[in-house]
Amino acid sequence: MRVGVSHEAKWLAALGHNHPMHAAAAAPSPAKPLTGPQKALHKLGLDRAIDLALHLPLRYEDETRLVHLRDVREGDVAQVEGTVKHSEVKLGGTRQLLVTLDDGTGTCLLRFFTFYPSQQKALAVGNRLRVRGEIRGGFAGLTMMHPAFHPAGGELPNALTPVYPTSAGLPQAYLRRAVEGGLTRAELSDTIPQEYLHQIGLQPLWNLRKSLSFLHHPTPEVTLATLEDHSHPAWQRLKAEELLAQQLSQLQAKRERAALRAPALSPLVGQATLHERLLAALPFDLTAAQRRVCEEITHDLHQNVPMHRLLQGDVGSGKTVVAALAAAVCIDAGWQCALMAPTEILATQHFAKLVGWLHPLGITVAWLTGSQKAKERREMLALIASGQAQLVVGTHAMIQDKVQFSKLALAIIDEQHRFGVAQRLALRGKLVDAMEPHLLMMTATPIPRTLAMSYYADLDVSTIDELPPGRTPVITKVVNDARRGEVVQRIRAQIDEGRQIYWVCPLIEESEALDLSNATVTHAQLSAALPGVMVGLLHSRMPVAEKKAVMSLFTGGQMGVLVSTTVIEVGVDVPNASLMVIEHAERFGLSQLHQLRGRVGRGAAASACVLLYSTGDAPRLGETARERLRAMAESNDGFEIARRDLEIRGPGEFMGARQSGAALLRFADVVEDAALLAWARALAPVMLDQHPALAAKHVQRWLGGKAEFLKA
Ligand code: ADP
Ligand code: MG
Repeated sequence: MRVGVSHEAKWLAALGHNHPMHAAAAAPSPAKPLTGPQKALHKLGLDRAIDLALHLPLRYEDETRLVHLRDVREGDVAQVEGTVKHSEVKLGGTRQLLVTLDDGTGTCLLRFFTFYPSQQKALAVGNRLRVRGEIRGGFAGLTMMHPAFHPAGGELPNALTPVYPTSAGLPQAYLRRAVEGGLTRAELSDTIPQEYLHQIGLQPLWNLRKSLSFLHHPTPEVTLATLEDHSHPAWQRLKAEELLAQQLSQLQAKRERAALRAPALSPLVGQATLHERLLAALPFDLTAAQRRVCEEITHDLHQNVPMHRLLQGDVGSGKTVVAALAAAVCIDAGWQCALMAPTEILATQHFAKLVGWLHPLGITVAWLTGSQKAKERREMLALIASGQAQLVVGTHAMIQDKVQFSKLALAIIDEQHRFGVAQRLALRGKLVDAMEPHLLMMTATPIPRTLAMSYYADLDVSTIDELPPGRTPVITKVVNDARRGEVVQRIRAQIDEGRQIYWVCPLIEESEALDLSNATVTHAQLSAALPGVMVGLLHSRMPVAEKKAVMSLFTGGQMGVLVSTTVIEVGVDVPNASLMVIEHAERFGLSQLHQLRGRVGRGAAASACVLLYSTGDAPRLGETARERLRAMAESNDGFEIARRDLEIRGPGEFMGARQSGAALLRFADVVEDAALLAWARALAPVMLDQHPALAAKHVQRWLGGKAEFLKA
């Protein structure tokens, strides 16, 4: 019998060997060098007794019963007892040991390809054995390959045998003993006072100790379904505990941050502020939503506590100007601001836009990227170190050691999910003395409420829930690739009207396995089909200078069609582009499609997005794929699309930089366990205030040294 348990996928993710948290949660340096299996345990983060105790089985094997060979079927994992009737080493071809076992109701052939003399002796004719393995058919009759075997007799265990997630170099038997030891040694007294358990229908009887012992060794009569779907009270308890640990650590981080100091960015008195002058100079009025989030941000910046705020707004909702206004508040107070973007193209766009707005107002904007010439870079570093540059725009090049800010007070991170935790921590460390800079993170992938409540519980969130006026909604059409010719005709018509077109392809080079058309081929096709039109090509493997040249031709309007891979995914802003074609749309995630589509419909012209799909050899597209593309055609609302994407793909897609946090939730599921999550969220402040010692113990038990990483 095998009991499949659905947290396997999460485990596989959590067991990623280069997991940053495992590096952080280093075990106390051992005096003796670690053995192979010990190293493997450490790599899996199984250092403490409690870590082992919380390492739950993937599935179980039933060794509690013996069956008769008469009753077994192919594919069963069976345990039988019988007598060896025949044993021989077959030479020639592959050397193997063939043993015939008879249990009085039938016979089974045991096959071993590797064996020691001692094993051969144990399997000698006349010996009585207890054998366990998967039954296979075949013309030799029932067969087991390399079954486990012991002498017959002896007691049968009275609990199911756990099978743990493991890795190379860590045998199941070793791990079982280690977990067993961990379970015995771990301190498992309750940390959740009883009165709170009742609130959510948890039975105090199923405390942590009992729940863990049970999940490691469930009794055979348990209803397997409740183990599989995690509805068993023992599972509920573990999920509740896990969610509470997550909420506690985030709330703690939030409170610790509130104890930190940041420069209060109040305007210097007496002069017209940059903030006011910038507002006056903008060619448009802010939307009500932009005004609201600007107020929220400004309010935070006036405090001497570091801001920790996420600005979320659908693509095209106008986050850049909000960032510029926040920078203005910072500059008005006499401090420096940094804006970090994930790609060079995006950084270039921000730089151009911000210089356009701020330079006429007398502001010095510096520029830092990896591809910069040494001389320019030296000049920029000097501007930044002297404090002359009031705003610094760039890529992650700005978090290198050599970059010395003179007085950084506000760090803005665009498309924050593209950055790793360590990178964001590095930017925070750039401020002198014991102060922290304010932190504003921006994202166009709206975070569904359930995720906001769990992984982002320590963040303040501002939302731009309104697009600037005058935008015509993008019309989305789902079109079979067989009708590509018609799409090209449409491009022709658009270009004749002076419009520009994006054409997005999923891969750079032909991959035999996937047979996706590639950007290069499409580029050649479109160039041939559209004589007299400049068709450009942009992909991530091009040298930066070339990318920039292509982008500036497109931004400047000379280039009619831009064929690209998804490098244009984030942030690019060309209001004259009114048509986007996405090839192999069925291969993209919903949120990604939505982001791509957000590149058009930025000006007043009616805009369209064509989702080209290809069915390959199949006569039609699969049901899920069709449903997803239909969802895109039906909705222009990033929140709605994010919600559907969460349903289809799970939280991983949204987490990006918080992957470490995602891996921390091994048992609970933020969607499925929304009720438990709400409970944990409400309980966290009560625990911190009224039961601080229990709260600390709980976090330490569940997260150990890993809690630090949730704070980034
Ligand atoms: P995103 O939120 O996707 O980063 P951007 O900041 O790039 O969006 O803004 C998209 C476009 O809308 C830009 O051209 C920007 O100048 C323009 N924009 C921003 N706010 C407004 C507004 N209130 N009215 C009109 N246009 C605006
Ligand atoms: Mg943007």
